[in-house]
Amino acid sequence: MSDRRNNNRASGSSNARLNPDDAAMVFETSSGVDIVTDFAQMNLKPELLQGIYAYGFEQPSAIQQRAIRPILKGRDVIAQAQSGTGKTATFSISALNCVEPATRETQALVLSPTRELAQQIQKVVLALGDYMGVQCHACIGGVSVAEDIKKLDYGQHVVSGTPGRVFDMIKRRHLRTRNIKMLILDEADEMLSRGFKEQIYDIYRYLPPTTQVVIVSATLPHEVLEITTKFMTDPIRILVKRDELTLEGIKQFFISVEREEWKFDTLCDLYDTLIITQAVIFCNTRRKVEFLAEEMAKANFTVSHMHGEMDQKERDTIMKQFRSGATRVLITTDLWARGIDVQQVSLVINYDLPINRENYIHRIGRSGRFGRSGVAINFVTNDDVRTLRDIEQYYATQIEEMPMNVNDMLTNN
Ligand code: ADP
Repeated sequence: MSDRRNNNRASGSSNARLNPDDAAMVFETSSGVDIVTDFAQMNLKPELLQGIYAYGFEQPSAIQQRAIRPILKGRDVIAQAQSGTGKTATFSISALNCVEPATRETQALVLSPTRELAQQIQKVVLALGDYMGVQCHACIGGVSVAEDIKKLDYGQHVVSGTPGRVFDMIKRRHLRTRNIKMLILDEADEMLSRGFKEQIYDIYRYLPPTTQVVIVSATLPHEVLEITTKFMTDPIRILVKRDELTLEGIKQFFISVEREEWKFDTLCDLYDTLIITQAVIFCNTRRKVEFLAEEMAKANFTVSHMHGEMDQKERDTIMKQFRSGATRVLITTDLWARGIDVQQVSLVINYDLPINRENYIHRIGRSGRFGRSGVAINFVTNDDVRTLRDIEQYYATQIEEMPMNVNDMLTNN
């Protein structure tokens, strides 16, 4: 990948979280970013524009107003904006605009950290590209390889996948990379950290050297921005204001449960509140998810649960039921922390505080989608008090003790 290595290192001004200096850079990166406030002014393909309107979008969101044009101009782009502000649509629209439907070869590749997210992106691409006759395949683990091969051999304009299966399909030459023009990394900080990084590099090596790279996330710590210099060329950074990152519109509270053993009763007391709309409850381990789901069922509360150890069919069913509103309370792990968009979710409970600070903002961002209001409740044991304060400081936000009228906040959505 050294062929694309360049000296244009991302500004060293940011630290582990968004730096106040970055706030000043918001939407005014050194290269200057034009703001386009109308989809019709973006020079999009007519069929794509038709798809966007048919999907119900009227005006582009802030990140869409700023990021789509530079991507369409061919620039490598680093786009950072808070959860639920339309980043998925930003890169889906950009990818679709670069697709030539007449060439039935993969032209855009989107990688994301979870299978559910890859499937969600596939659906958005298919919906927005409805009038373009676009083929988009979700290339993910846990489903039949034979089916995957069949779909890919048929020809897919856009592939949205998880790194393991995508790399496998590339190696077996069912996913042909020759015509790929754009690589998109969603949840880029997650993708470029820990387990995924090597796989991403492996995939990257198979892409044409001219491939445009777009990376997207709500959180992009400094270490990750550093890595981007290895595979991005003179990227434009489009960053949100730091104060916007704390998710305006999401009220954050804590409940002192003192001890781990007391969390369960607290949750049962909250149950009526949970089912007012839809709620997601986060635990830190799969075992805890199982345990909590069992205990809730024993106590006659209806809840669904999912985690990464379940087989994909089961995961798909649970997602479908939750998306349709057939189930209203979902207990899960950080599998669900990033990107998943269910607009009805108005309450997030951290049964356990997240281990990593980035995931705090991602988890609570499952509520308050696209300007809706939301509530986040953190269960805090005596041992957690310091972690909570740390999160507060890190995001320069306030997490107050939960008031009695929390239901009003949920019903005034
Ligand atoms: P992000 O990727 O930033 O978390 P999404 O792209 O998932 O956000 O968008 C959040 C929600 O807002 C989705 O339900 C999406 O359909 C909706 N949305 C995105 N862009 C627009 C727009 N321009 N107008 C109306 N709704 C939008």
